[in-house]
Amino acid sequence: MSIANPLLEPFDLAPFSKIKNEHFKPAFLQAIEDARAEIDAIVENPEAPTFENTLEALDFSGQQLDRVSSIFFNLNSAETNEEIQKIAQEVSPLLSDFGNDIILNEGLFQRVKSVYEQRNELDLTPEQLTLLEKRYKKFSRNGANLNEEDKKRLRKIDAELAKLKLTFGENVLAETNKYELLLADEKDVEGLPEGEKEAAEQLAQSKGKKGWLITLDYPSYIPFMKYAKNRALRKELSIAFGSKGFHNNELDNQENVLKIVALRHERANLLGYPTHAHFVLEERMAETPEKVMDFLNELLEKAKPAAEREFNELEDFAKQLDNIDQLEKWDSAYYSEKLKQKLFNLDDEKLKPYFKLENVINGVFKVAEMLFGLTFKEVSNIDKYHDEVKTFEVYGASNNFISLFYADFHPRAGKRGGAWMTSYKSQFTLNGTNSRPHISNVCNFTKPTSTKPSLLTFNEVTTLFHEFGHGLHGMLANTTYPSLSGTSVYWDFVELPSQIMENWCYEKEALELFAHHYETGELIPMELIEKIKESATFQEGMATVRQLSFGFLDMAWHGTDPTGIKDVKAYETKAFEGTDLFPKTPETCMSTSFSHIFQGGYSSGYYSYKWAEVLDADAFAYFKEQGIFNKEVADKFKEHVLSKGGTENPMELYKRFRGAEPKIEALLERAGLVELKD
Ligand SMILES: [Zn+2]
Repeated sequence: MSIANPLLEPFDLAPFSKIKNEHFKPAFLQAIEDARAEIDAIVENPEAPTFENTLEALDFSGQQLDRVSSIFFNLNSAETNEEIQKIAQEVSPLLSDFGNDIILNEGLFQRVKSVYEQRNELDLTPEQLTLLEKRYKKFSRNGANLNEEDKKRLRKIDAELAKLKLTFGENVLAETNKYELLLADEKDVEGLPEGEKEAAEQLAQSKGKKGWLITLDYPSYIPFMKYAKNRALRKELSIAFGSKGFHNNELDNQENVLKIVALRHERANLLGYPTHAHFVLEERMAETPEKVMDFLNELLEKAKPAAEREFNELEDFAKQLDNIDQLEKWDSAYYSEKLKQKLFNLDDEKLKPYFKLENVINGVFKVAEMLFGLTFKEVSNIDKYHDEVKTFEVYGASNNFISLFYADFHPRAGKRGGAWMTSYKSQFTLNGTNSRPHISNVCNFTKPTSTKPSLLTFNEVTTLFHEFGHGLHGMLANTTYPSLSGTSVYWDFVELPSQIMENWCYEKEALELFAHHYETGELIPMELIEKIKESATFQEGMATVRQLSFGFLDMAWHGTDPTGIKDVKAYETKAFEGTDLFPKTPETCMSTSFSHIFQGGYSSGYYSYKWAEVLDADAFAYFKEQGIFNKEVADKFKEHVLSKGGTENPMELYKRFRGAEPKIEALLERAGLVELKD
């Protein structure tokens, strides 16, 4: 190649200003070729396999490819355009082919296996042992140890599963798009806020129709269930929503559910696991289906009385208001919203003046300084992909360079919705040099105007703290191997650093650092914070039981031998027993549109939402006991959790920090699910 490609030169900082879109494809092709050559060299090494010449060499291979990929895919999320999206379509299959070629590389596997079999004699550090075990498992969990016939069967199962998951998702989407509730009479949208009414009217117009159009898309469905006064219409919409993929037509997903769980079970058995859940949980902090079931049951036992109490309160409220005798599923959001308004009357607009973006950023930096001794220095000499991106150098207590931090806060045409943390370079240690990471937070907070600064809702404040927590996990990483660094941990552990940071947003001592009115400088009144706290746990019992019911359903499908199951709805009804609060609706079925577990990656993993909450509540309780800025506790958290990445089993790391396994009590208390004794 004659024209210099900045992505193919060695670089430390991402060279954004020099990169043109036409650089990406050739950079990917070259970097993949180079990475392949590195792998070949490992496989063809005439020396006997050792940890260094195989595992270590493998972990440090493909570094240029990692850098190019991270720049490219981060831009595809934060600053994309049609050209970038087109390149993504082209390179994604190349990357997955490359990944498959590694995982199916027999020569490479034999070298890894040979080291793995000697692991007890090799005097490896805990981190090295983890690297070896994870790498070996990656091969074995993909069938590397199977005989040829079983390998063939495994590939066939994988191909079928990929197709079924796709069909499942397509059916859910088609069912969602197919349904329309067109309302001709304005009385039928009574109760909806003006903005929602307008949106429904515009939606109708956009389809050449008159009146108000409601669909099963969340932005249309949710407000209608929350505000629409017409109970019969709420019922109609709720049943339509709950019966996606359950109409015995060409879009029905019942057969697909049964086929997916049967294939997953067969796959797990082939690989030597009793069930799919055993297979999945082997690489999770929760470890086994038994532990997950115990966890779900323990929480259910504690949450159920609160849920029943809340249900009765809500039913009484509905009775008083509208003479409703039996509260149904389609009444829940509607009366909950009314009750919440009555109890709290909390308004975002009241809170926003106390949360000017710059103040909140300084606040989160200050919290990081008080806890972990970090200082953030804004710098202007770092190459960036957009003017709005802010760049910081992060230093430790002894003025040592810790990390680079990119912060990109406002929505733009080329940015996807939501908020996330990502990295442009992960931390690692090579030849005695600790190479520090480049971390990024991307959000979509309201932009400042010429007259008003960017003011955050409280929800946005906790989002900022949350993503910054993931950021700290990346910034403070201190490991040897890049694949174990930072946020590369089991996924029921990855939300601990982020969720724990949210806790500081509710604490007076922390709020005093930054929650000052942007005009008057007045500190946020504590009554407001108390109200936020109370409203955050409003109907927490019901919400918990609902979350648990999904976890139970997930485990019912994946934690047992499913070959005898014939009737999806009947099986689901049984799994929900014990979590039911509302009367049953025979017309609906959750499983046939449960995309999280049948299309996405959450199979045997739904429990992890609650698991992560238990972890962060239990960890923060330790701070509360010792003081939320206690140095010793913070040091332990940094030492045993934030810096360690995935170098050891997360339960071991957690116990070293906390002195014990996580217990559910702190969450119950925070969620208001324990009866306080007087
Ligand atoms: Zn998160």
